[in-house]
Parts: sequence; C-alpha cells; structure tokens
Amino acid sequence: MKSYLVPNSAQPGYSAIMRNGTFKDGKLVHDYDGVITLYQLLQRCLRLFPDAPFIGTRKFDAVTRTFGEYEWTNTTEAGKLIDDFGSGLDIVYQKYAPKDSDSEGDQEALGIYSINRAEWMLAEAAGFRSRRYSVALYDTLGAESVEFIMNHAEVSVIVCSIDKIPKLLKLKDRMPGLKVIISMDEFAQHGKNPVSLPFTVNSVRVLHEWAESMGIVLLDVPQVLEMGAANPTLPRPPMPDDLCTICYTSGTTGEPKGVMSTHESYTYAAMVSHHSMPVDRPVYLSFLPMAHCFERIVVYVGLLGGGSVGFYSGDVLNIANDAQALRPTVLAGVPRLFNRIYDRIAAATIHAPGMRGIIARTAIKQKLERLEAGQGFKHALWDRIVCNKIRQFFGGRLELLISGSAPIDHKVLNFLRVALASTVVEGYAATECNATATMTCPDEKRAGHVGVPYLGVEVRLRDVPEMGYLATDTPCPRGELLIRAKHVFKGYYKEPEKTQAAMEGEWLITGDIGQFEEDGNLKIIDRRKNILKLAQGEYVAIEYLETVYSRCPLVQNIFVHGDSLQSKLVAVVVPDPETFLPWARKISGNSQTDVGELCGDEHVVGALLVELRKIGREAKLQGFEIICSIYCEAEPFDIEGNKLLTSTFKLKRSVAKEYYRKQIGDMYRAINSKSKQ
Ligand code: AMP
Repeated sequence: MKSYLVPNSAQPGYSAIMRNGTFKDGKLVHDYDGVITLYQLLQRCLRLFPDAPFIGTRKFDAVTRTFGEYEWTNTTEAGKLIDDFGSGLDIVYQKYAPKDSDSEGDQEALGIYSINRAEWMLAEAAGFRSRRYSVALYDTLGAESVEFIMNHAEVSVIVCSIDKIPKLLKLKDRMPGLKVIISMDEFAQHGKNPVSLPFTVNSVRVLHEWAESMGIVLLDVPQVLEMGAANPTLPRPPMPDDLCTICYTSGTTGEPKGVMSTHESYTYAAMVSHHSMPVDRPVYLSFLPMAHCFERIVVYVGLLGGGSVGFYSGDVLNIANDAQALRPTVLAGVPRLFNRIYDRIAAATIHAPGMRGIIARTAIKQKLERLEAGQGFKHALWDRIVCNKIRQFFGGRLELLISGSAPIDHKVLNFLRVALASTVVEGYAATECNATATMTCPDEKRAGHVGVPYLGVEVRLRDVPEMGYLATDTPCPRGELLIRAKHVFKGYYKEPEKTQAAMEGEWLITGDIGQFEEDGNLKIIDRRKNILKLAQGEYVAIEYLETVYSRCPLVQNIFVHGDSLQSKLVAVVVPDPETFLPWARKISGNSQTDVGELCGDEHVVGALLVELRKIGREAKLQGFEIICSIYCEAEPFDIEGNKLLTSTFKLKRSVAKEYYRKQIGDMYRAINSKSKQ
C-alpha cells in the first residue's frame, strides 16, 4: 500500500488519518543540514554548490529578434547580487520608506510585480536578507485588487518590470503608502528587452517626471545594486517564525485573502517535497507565475537538490523554444498547458497521417498497455523509434514533469507518461498549505486521483452529511478533506475570523471532497463550498451565478455547472411556463406547442441562451462566468419527484450533476468541438 491509515485514528464523523506509506511513524528524518529558513537554504546553496549554474536567462537580440542561448549566473555571483541588492534595499527603506510606527509587526513588506525572471527571485532573496517578506502582484488580479493588496499589505517599496510602472503610477493616488518603485529593467537599456519595447528614451523621461510629480522615488535595479555595493550592510537574517511571503489568492467573494507563510513553513514544504520526490541537480524551467506558491516551492525544492533555474523568455506559447534551449530535467505546469502540449504532440504523432501515424499509434497503444500492466513508462524499441523524438519537444533530458493546481485529464496524464517516457506526477494542494499536500507516486500507472500524502503530511476526511459524503462510506470513505502538516499556513493577513473558519484545530479545512481509494490513493471528487476553479485557474462561485441568472423572468430553476477540466460554464434551465410559453411560441412560430416541445426547439434554446448571457453581462460578470451552453428542461426541479431539491428547496448539486451527466457531457462535447474548428 502506498499510503498508510494510522490504526485507531478514526473518530465519529472522521475517517482514519492517512499518511505516506514510508512515513508511518510521522517522523521526518533528514533535516538538510539544519536548514530552517529560506535564507539558510540559499546560504546552503552557496556552501555546497558555489560554482553551480544558479540562474539562467536568455538575452533578446533586437537585430535578429530572437532569444539567444541561456546565460548563467553561478551561485556565488548570485550570492553577491543578493548581498548588494539587499544592502541597497536597506538604504532605500531607511532613506525613502522608514517604517511607520502604526504598521503591523516588525517586518517590512517588499512588493514584487513582474512575470518570472531572474530579478524576481533575486529581489525576494535580497529581501529575506533583512527579514523582509515578499508580496507578489500579478496582472490577472485586475487593477482593483492590485490597489487593495498594495494597501492591505502596506507595501511601500516595490520591485517591478518597467511595463508595470505606469500601472502603479496611475493608481498612486489611491495607494498613499507607496514610496519607491524599483524597475527591474535598466533605464539605460530600455528597448533591448521586448517586455520594455514600448519604452523609449522619451517615455522613460516621462515616467521619471510622472513619478516625481506623484512623490514617488523611481530607481532601477542597477542603481540599487550600486548603492548596496558602495555601502554594504550587515544581514539581519529571518527567524523561522518570520513571514517569508504573503500570497494573495484571488477569491470570488469579497477581497483577495493574504495567505501568510513563515520561513519555517516554506522550508518545511520544500523539504518534504524533496524528500518525497528527490531530485538531484535538476535543471528547472520556470514559467508558472512565481506569484503563486506552487512555482516558488518547486524552485526551492530544486535548490535543495543543488539545481539550476532557467527562466522562460516571457511567452508561455514559446515554451517549447525555451525548453529546447534549456533542456530542462524537471518541469512543472498546469493542466491547461499540458492539454495544449498534448494537442500539439498528438497532432504530430498519433493523429499524424500515413505510416508515421500508424507507427506512433502502435507505439503509444503498446506503451499504455504496459503502463497499465504495471511495467513502467519505458520501452526499448518504441522509445528509440518514437518517444525519443517526442522528448525533443522539451529538449530531450526531461526526467520529471509535475502537474498541479487543478485536475488533469486522465488521457493527457497517461499519454504524457508514455510519450515522454518520463515520470509524470499530479500534485494536489492549496495555497494555505504551501502547495504541498499529496502527489501521485513516481511509478503510478493509474490516472484520476491525486496520489498519497507527502512525507510529513497527514490527511483525513470529515463527514459532510448534507452532501451525502460520510467517512463510513464503503468501500471508500468520503468526506471533506482536512490536512495537517507543519507547513500549514499561519493565517490570513489581518483576517482572524477567516483564519479561524479555515482551520479545525491543527487541521486545514480544504473545502474539497476527498475519497480514499481502495488502492491507497486519494481522489478529489467534489467541492464543498461550490466555489470552483475552472481549467484556466479562475474561481467561480456557482451559487452566486445562479442567483444572477435566476433574475431572468423566463427562468424557473437553473443549475449552473462548471468542471475543473473545462474552462467554460454550462447550465440546465427549467423555464417558467407563464413567461416562457408566449415568448417561446413567438420564436418557434407555432402557437400550439407545449413547454416540452419548445425546450427541444434549437431556436428557442439559442434565444434563451442569448437572454441569459445578456443578464450576465448586465450584472457585470466576468467573461468566464458567462454560461456558454444550456440544456432546457421542462420538468421543474423538486423535492420528491426528481429529488433535485432539499427540503429547504436548495439544489442538491451532486445529485443534479449525476442526473444531468449525459446532457452536461453533450454540452461540453459541442463546445469543445466548436472551439477546435
Ligand atoms: P489554490 O490555493 O489557488 O492553489 O487552489 C487550491 C485548490 O485547487 C484546491 O483546494 C483544489 O480545489 C484545487 N486543486 C489543486 N490541485 C488539484 C488537483 N490536482 N486536483 C483537483 N483539484 C485541485
């Protein structure tokens, strides 16, 4: 058994506690030389791997308009940059942003706002040198959330790419605490990096004048490095219990919540991940946003193994080009990206015409059969003839591919396992447990579950009777998933009530419904709070959307459905006969038809969808919250007949999902085949 159920740990309403099969006693042995803060982790890299390539980037050639080979900064050079930048930051804070006596705690926040790049990582590490914690901003937050986070986290100094400077200056009036902006792009070099291309000598001058008029000190990284090199300060290393980052999650209801993580919790998460999935001197391609903790943890895991981090060149669509230049051994991504990669590889292999397609299909079929028979993902002949070529997509050296953040399609996961002839794992976690909870085993042959707890992590299930999930369910216990580990978060910043609601004693309440599978794996089968993450990573509050769409006078009942494997929403709509009949008859041109027939009339269904989408837009819903397809149902939802409602008239979502499984499947098939055309 890959996991271990702790004997006698089940309690009424709770399942037994599940641990990793090699972590039965709950003790972690290896301690990585006593490392307990991220600052110490970086110092350990300096000690053990001083000459190793640490950070790699590709320079843009403005003449050929291509990116060059990776150029590396070794660990010692990076250490010097961190020292100089850290000293420079000390001077900047002291001179331009001295700590307000009213602000919380004795640590300071350092804002970071850019795509992944070397300066992102170096800025965060330089902050750690003086106990500063990072607060990351990213574009998909939207301007309102950027403003909220900057004020909520009291960010006075921010390091950002040049393109973010106008965005920040525009908001400055509403962000009184912001004092200093440090550009990652050197002002004298503007125009050389495509990210900074719109910026000319003149626009940089305008930025300076604009910043000055707003009372903002505008510097660039080389200036701060120079300040620090000329006046080195003594490091003030963080304590294990100090904050290392506040990671804001984009909630659907209300403002973003700031997940507070300590140095110890991040380090511990990285250690248990490395323990569970040892990687030695990995070469890692970094492109998932560092603003999310998943990416940062993977980077720190790599550093524990003496690894090198190559940053992508700024365009995820160009990831294959970066991979071919870097030739990574480890890569982490999200299902949405892997779906795209699957489509590309499949088109060139199993869906290819002629002999090439026949050979690829035979190879993949045989390899999948072997995988399912527990014989692994390698095959001497097929790897040589077919899969080694596929491996070139990522440069040919890939050993480990990690998918996380949302469920990955079974077909895609197993295809990647055999086609890339690499270990492909799926991880499950949440920001609140530093992206580290469960992972499929390296030799896993089955898809559709999230594996077993990491070493150092315990999970259990709690009854959710109103949804019909019980820890006593047989053969597989089901219930809300709770997580206990040393790296579970410290709380939401300035939100004690929300923190309390997220915890049950030492256990993190995930809101996900889990099922203990008979083979010892954990499977995520539902969400408790009906806040669902779509495939592109956006959260939707389904019940809220139903309230919005129910405003349509033609609607009697509505069941909005989203699926984490899909990026679009669909719905089952029961029309209100009183309003619907006259309206729909006019559209169908037949005054005798009944509701049932009208529900099957595609013109009527199309017109109803248009009405609902109009209501969604009027309510200012986001694009991904607008439903894309509906199934029209004549029979109302009720308590006794179809049993879709509770006695208090609440929709039983899990029952409805099962009841309309076919219709939902048809809608998604139609949407997906349309989007492929
Ligand atoms: P976040 O805090 O944004 O990383 O989101 C955490 C949530 O993402 C979890 O509570 C799950 O609902 C979902 N999630 C993450 N990984 C997976 C996975 N492998 N399978 C299913 N859901 C996942």
